[in-house]
Parts: sequence; C-alpha cells; structure tokens
Amino acid sequence: MPVAASPAKASARDLSAQQRKMAKLGLHGPEDLILHLPIRYEDETAITPIARLIPGMWAQVEGEVTSCEVTYRPRKQLKASIRDESGELGLRYLNFYPSQQKQLAVGRRIRARGEARGGFFGMEMVHPRTTVATDVSRLPTSLTPVYPTTEGLPQGVLRKAIAEALQDADLSDTLPESLRQQYDLMGFAQAVRLLHYPPADVDPEGLTARAHPAWLRVKFDELLAQQLSLAKARAARLDKRAVRLPLRKGDDTVVSRLLATLPFGLTGAQQRVLKEIAADLAKPNPMHRLLQGDVGSGKTVVAALAAAQAIDNGYQAALMAPTEILAEQHYRKLVDWFAPLGIKVMWLTGSLSAKVRREAVAAIESGEAHLAVGTQALIQDQVTFSKLGLAIVDEQHRFGVGQRLALRGKGGGKDGADLYPHQLMMTATPIPRTLAMTFFADLDVSVIDELPPGRTPVVTKLLSDARRDEVVARIHEAARIGRQVYWVCPLVEESETLELQTAVDTHLALTQALPGLNVGLVHGRLPTAEKAAVMQAFKAGEIHLLVATTVIEVGVDVPNASLMVIEHAERFGLAQLHQLRGRVGRGAAESVCVLLFQTPLSMIAKARLRTMHETTDGFEIARRDLELRGPGEFLGVRQSGLALMRFADLETDIEIAEQAHEAAALLQASQPDVVARHLARWMRGREDFLKA
Ligand code: ADP
Ligand code: MG
Repeated sequence: MPVAASPAKASARDLSAQQRKMAKLGLHGPEDLILHLPIRYEDETAITPIARLIPGMWAQVEGEVTSCEVTYRPRKQLKASIRDESGELGLRYLNFYPSQQKQLAVGRRIRARGEARGGFFGMEMVHPRTTVATDVSRLPTSLTPVYPTTEGLPQGVLRKAIAEALQDADLSDTLPESLRQQYDLMGFAQAVRLLHYPPADVDPEGLTARAHPAWLRVKFDELLAQQLSLAKARAARLDKRAVRLPLRKGDDTVVSRLLATLPFGLTGAQQRVLKEIAADLAKPNPMHRLLQGDVGSGKTVVAALAAAQAIDNGYQAALMAPTEILAEQHYRKLVDWFAPLGIKVMWLTGSLSAKVRREAVAAIESGEAHLAVGTQALIQDQVTFSKLGLAIVDEQHRFGVGQRLALRGKGGGKDGADLYPHQLMMTATPIPRTLAMTFFADLDVSVIDELPPGRTPVVTKLLSDARRDEVVARIHEAARIGRQVYWVCPLVEESETLELQTAVDTHLALTQALPGLNVGLVHGRLPTAEKAAVMQAFKAGEIHLLVATTVIEVGVDVPNASLMVIEHAERFGLAQLHQLRGRVGRGAAESVCVLLFQTPLSMIAKARLRTMHETTDGFEIARRDLELRGPGEFLGVRQSGLALMRFADLETDIEIAEQAHEAAALLQASQPDVVARHLARWMRGREDFLKA
C-alpha cells in the first residue's frame, strides 16, 4: 500500500478536478484510457542491494530505518536513512505528511523505490515511494507501469482508471484475422493488456524500448490509422473543386512579361518545378504542393510566377510569411517585379495603422489587389478575398497546422463558396523520406535541387569565444574591402527581454570596438518602420555591420553580405544555424560564417557544430538533425501542440510504416467498415491535423 497521498479516499471535488486533469491529457473516456500506455516500467519484482545503486538508476531497495528527523536548514525537510547488509541510503522529502514521518520510525523495515542520486552526504533518494516491509509482504509478480501524467494526477489514480477502462472498453480487434496473420500481429486485446500489466518474465528492457510484439501491434495500428486518414484526406481533396488556372499563352501575359523583365534566367530546376506547379494549377482539384529548396535556391521567383499565372486567369494570390521582416522583404521584391507590369501588390501585417489596414482589407475584398503579401494578419477574420485562386505559404514549417488551414479557408469568395484555392507551401527544411511517406502522403513535392549560378559555398569556421578579438579584426578587414557583415546575437530562450538586452549591449560594444564603421541594430521589438529602415539601409550598403537577434533567421536577402558571426552558436538548433548561414554566400564573393561558441559543449552541441563545419547541404543537415532531435520540428507540430505519433518512432519504425502503408491501400479498396472502425478507435477527432 503506498502511503503518500493515498488516492483511495478522493472526495467528489477531487474527482472532478482529476477528470479535468485527465481531459488535459486527452483522456475523456475508457477508449482513450486503454490507449494511454506506459512510458516505462518499474521493476518492483526485485530488490537491489543499496551498495549496487548508481546515480540515475531507478530501483527498489529494502532496509531498516536508522534515523529520521525533520530539519529546518536550509529549509524544512524530512531526512531519514535506511540500511541493508550492503550499505546505507539517505531518503529526503521536501514536502511530507506526518504519516510519512510516522512510517519511517527508526528500527522499522521499509521498501523504498525511486531514483538514486549522488548527494552531498552519499547516495540518496528524493521523494521515494515507500511501503512498510513485513515478513509476509511478497514482491509483485508483474512489472509496474509508469504512465505519462501531469501535475496533480498521481500514478495510482491513473492505474485505477485504466484498470476500470480495461473492463469497460471495447477491446475487440479492428483488424481482420487474415491481415493479422499476414503481418504476424498480436491480438489487440492481448497486446493492450500486456502493455498495462506485463508479467514479470517479460524483459523490461524490450518493453521500455518498445520492441516487444505487443508494442509492434500498437505501433502498427497507430501508423495504419494515420495512413488511412491521409488516404481519406487525399480522396476528399480530389473531391473538392478548385478553379482551373491554366498557363495562358502569349507575350502579353503577366507570366511572360515577368519572365522577360527578370534580371536573370531561371535555373533548370526552377523551370522544372514551375512546370509541375503550372500543370497542377490547371486542374479542377486544389493543388497541394510542397516546394522544397535549400536556402538561396530561388523559391520566391517561382512563387511569383505561380501567382502571375493565377492573376492571368483573373484570380488573386496570397503569400503568407512567418515574420514581418520576411513578409516585408517579399513585398518589396514583388512590388519591384509586379508594379511595372501594372499588377497591384498589397501589404498586410498586424502592425499597420487601423486606417491603412482598412484600406488594404478593402482592396483585397474588392479584388483591386491582385496579390496580397503579409503575415498571419492575412488569415484574420475580417479579411475576405474577392477571388483567391492561389494561397502560398512560405517557410511552412514555421506555421501551425491550423494557420495553414485558415488560409486555405479564405478561398472562394462571394461567387464560389465551394471552391478551394490551390495551395503552394515552401520550405528550406527538407523533409526526410520517412516523414514524406508517412506525414505528407497527401502532399506532392517539388524540389529545387540546384543553386543559381555563381555562388561560392560558405566556409564555416568554429572559434571559441576566447578568440573574439580576432573576429572583430576580421570584420574590420571585410568592411575595408567593401563587404558587409551580420552579427547574430545569442538566443536566450528563457527571456526575450534578456535577449534584447544582449543585442543592445553587443551593438554598443561593437560600435566602440569598430570606430570607423557604421554599425546597425535590428531586433524583434523594434517598431516596424524602424526595422524596415535599418534593413533598407543595410541593403543599400550604408550599414557595414548589422547586429541582429534571430529575427533575420529566415529569408533576408543581401547579396553583398559575405561574413556572418553567430555568437553562442551552441545554443542554436541545426535548422536554425543552417537558415542563418544561408544569409551569406548569396553573391559571388567568398563568404565565411564564424560560429563562436562557449565551452564546455554538450555532446549534442558538439555534434551540431561539427555538422555545420562539415557540410552546407541542407538535406544532409536535415538528416542529421532528425537523428539528433526527432521529427517534431519538420512537422510544425510544436505550434499545433499535438504530437501525432505517440508510439511509433519514425526513425526506427520505417518498416512498420511501410507495412501500414500497404495494408491501408488494401483495406481502403475492399473493407470500408474495417477502415471506419479502426479510425474511430485511433483518430478520435484528430483527423483535421493530418489534412493540412
Ligand atoms: P530562397 O529559396 O531561400 O527563398 P530566394 O528566392 O530569396 O531564395 O533567392 C535567393 C536569391 O537568388 C535572390 O536574390 C534571388 O533574386 C536570386 N535568384 C533566384 N533565382 C535566380 C536565378 N535563376 N539566377 C540568379 N539569381 C537568382
Ligand atoms: Mg525564401
């Protein structure tokens, strides 16, 4: 019997509070609870001798209480110690009940379970769970499940709820026998029961590593559900109508005139992806295409030509970017390209004055604006398009799924409520094959795999922060020969204010260290107009050195900048470093990226910096990033707050994913009732998130 905070006598009020907590975990009924599977297991079937404990180890020990007292320095706490034949262990409670103190009476034999730590006074456990050991207390025969939980929802409550759910819920198999045999799958009920109550003879390591056949069944089910709903989403999309926007022939189209005025010719890769997009736009079903191209590969012009094709058909296009700086830059570039052709480009962000904003919204609504460029402001309620034919989302992984859906919902307009706009998403973060197959099965992908000519690869140097002076000298030299420099200030995840302060301090220090140079500063808190003015001055070459927070991370384009310094590079993620580095090497000059780091480096930081030093290939970087960090970033699930795969791991379970893919096609074609039942068990209202 666990003694601490026994859940057995929960009052009615506690109960509803606990139900709310369960709802927070997505546990609304028995069907959810049976699939709330343990994150790990504790082996309470064995006792570990105290002398064999090592820090970080979860274990159960048994011994006699040798001391127990409440101390008040440095704060009130309960400290006890127990001893077995092999050694002595401290137990410590920062919060405790009088009953706990009583239980730990000197001379009593108790069992304690918890994580061993190397404390100041020797090995200890903080807040272990304890029970009194009597001669008759036998060790349990099954492993103890540990469930994912949230503050104030004890394991005991979850265990009890799950035990009840296993009685109440429908555990019948959704998969036909033949399919189970074909893929050698354990029965559903058996698998779920085993995962909640694993017999003691099951290898706990295999269970925790999720390699046991019971886990394989659950993962198969999960991946199958995902494949089925993706197939459904695809079918639903092909059912939807979109306006056809074929490529118009002739020299006087916007497309032709834009091509004729561009100061460069398109690369082969750009031409190829444009063809793919143009063909999609001509179809009567909405395009759902991802344009993937490394930083600097020239995605913007492709987007502009796609927009031009929509405009040639009398429709509007929208381009949404994740940051104001990026949206502004797109806007300027697109105005440069389109205004001379008589095409009206509108600009819409959250920071516009009410009056300007009203005008922009009106122009979008009346159809006077052909192309609207902006941030999330584009998807706010008041904005309605007259005839939106094409929605373009830049840096799509930076948006939540909901935001992408919202832009799509802006289509149709007055005269075509049932028409969906075509959708083009762009990203510089390549999606590894496993993810493309599983998450983006309903997405066509175009890849720009060639950089515009005349680029020299960026050389990346790793320097310890102790060599900062050398870097400052280098900046001086670069400016002397007419080059421009970025200095990226450290990311301070905990505090935006601190991040800002660091940028201001760095700007001051560099201004003093480089008296002959014009040093600019840009950060997220700067008013929009000021931000734009600084960026414009940098672009015009009036600023030699631009000190910036990560606001310049995406999309900024100043070809004359050929040196970038990233301070505290060890704090950044790989994708972010790659994006940042992509701001240099955009012109013909040899470019250098200096990654300043502070020691000591964690293993992962070391691996990241080494990767940056070794390669400039976005695909390779993405692959290593996935290895180091898992797939969350690629999916944009961070923002949606919903991790889609709970059990399957896309790095290691690719084989199961392939089987599920195959099985989904089979079921889809011949067994709609199985599909419906399986989705009902596994998706439970989350399908929308797969459709974006
Ligand atoms: P990204 O794919 O990172 O969004 P951009 O669209 O910003 O890249 O393009 C990077 C730079 O390359 C821009 O200055 C753009 O005008 C230029 N560019 C694009 N296509 C070509 C091309 N075919 N030849 C030369 N320069 C190009
Ligand atoms: Mg871009």
